[in-house]
Amino acid sequence: MTGSGTTLDDYTDRYAQRVRGMTASEIRALFAVASRPEVVSLAGGAPYVSALPLDAVGEMLGRLALDHGATTLQYGIGQGTLELRERICEVMALSGIDGDLGASPEDVVVTVGGQQALDLVARLFLDPGDVVIAEGPTYVGALGAFQAAQAEVVHVAMDDDGLIPEALEAAITQVAAAGKRAKFLYTIPTYQNPAGVTLSEPRRERVLEICERAGLLVVEDDPYGQLGFEGDAPAPLRARRRDGVFYLSTFSKTFAPGFRVGWVLAPHAVREKLVIASEAQILCPSAYAQAAVTAYLTSMPWREQLKSYREIYRDRRDALLDSLTQLMPEGSHWTRPAGGLFVWATLPDGLDAKAMVPRALSARVAYVPGTGFYADGDGTANLRLNFSFSAPDRIREGVRRLASVVEQELSM
Ligand code: PMP
Repeated sequence: MTGSGTTLDDYTDRYAQRVRGMTASEIRALFAVASRPEVVSLAGGAPYVSALPLDAVGEMLGRLALDHGATTLQYGIGQGTLELRERICEVMALSGIDGDLGASPEDVVVTVGGQQALDLVARLFLDPGDVVIAEGPTYVGALGAFQAAQAEVVHVAMDDDGLIPEALEAAITQVAAAGKRAKFLYTIPTYQNPAGVTLSEPRRERVLEICERAGLLVVEDDPYGQLGFEGDAPAPLRARRRDGVFYLSTFSKTFAPGFRVGWVLAPHAVREKLVIASEAQILCPSAYAQAAVTAYLTSMPWREQLKSYREIYRDRRDALLDSLTQLMPEGSHWTRPAGGLFVWATLPDGLDAKAMVPRALSARVAYVPGTGFYADGDGTANLRLNFSFSAPDRIREGVRRLASVVEQELSM
């Protein structure tokens, strides 16, 4: 029986163990409603791709088929094209991850977005019951990849300077005391999703030392590092260590997510296994998408484009922060990101951001409730607010609606 709304599933007892715990992301369900035109969506994580020079991108894409169709429309190799891997090394060198640190095209694996990179790392290192230590809150797609590998996620608290080193030490001790094996620290040190905070310069070294001492690998996820509004971010962890640090990034936020091109820079010994695992999943990344990103990086003013993304997002962040300050009831607070796409807000005591979603949607504003960013049910008082997608006026209107919903909750 498959009537609408029916949750009966005739296949329930046939699923593999790892599938049984899988549930639809609350966030994805929310996006269907949030995308209605009358709703101001502060919910998504979409970059503002309309800021791209669409005519020039269109022409570039057409030429890729017309002039180079024999390769761009063909299969490629599992690791990704050498041309793109070389360009990726140039991009990483901008943030200090260079050849002196062993960053070479040989050790780059091109992936279908940063998301496949996360899934590959999970497949390579996680057995059922293994532990991943991650910031709390953390990226929902990473939680999905780790949970699909049947790993347990132990969260480490953050403050305005990012992950708290003492809390990381405590988490490592607690996992070991429980007789479990922590395999890696998953961290988004720069302009974190969803918290919007950045791991401070002094803490970067501390975190690396703690992980080294504990024999913990580091999976550094850095989609937003190039999107700072207040000067350059501290150098990535991978720019400080070559051993034991995996660096993951993507062109989704610096160019466009539609191409689905990301990468992993892996220690040399691991790179081959990553390629084998990736071939088992996808055979090879899209030749066309890789050619598009390569052409974009080679023949278009991509640094200018990055600058324009930064300026647009800074204005939108300012609109969000200013209106939060003006409108949100006392007792609420929020982070002040120096880059990236998100603000993490906390509601006044006693309010539940998830329970408030239907009221917010009736008031035509959408956000993502905080619980989706934790593996352990934490985050009930939190919400993630995106500022990359909507224009400043829409953002202000969204906060006006949100603030009035919070006021009503407080008076109930
Ligand atoms: N990591 C983080 C922290 C992200 O925020 C995202 C996208 N929102 C990704 C990875 C995956 O990005 P994509 O697959 O689009 O490259």
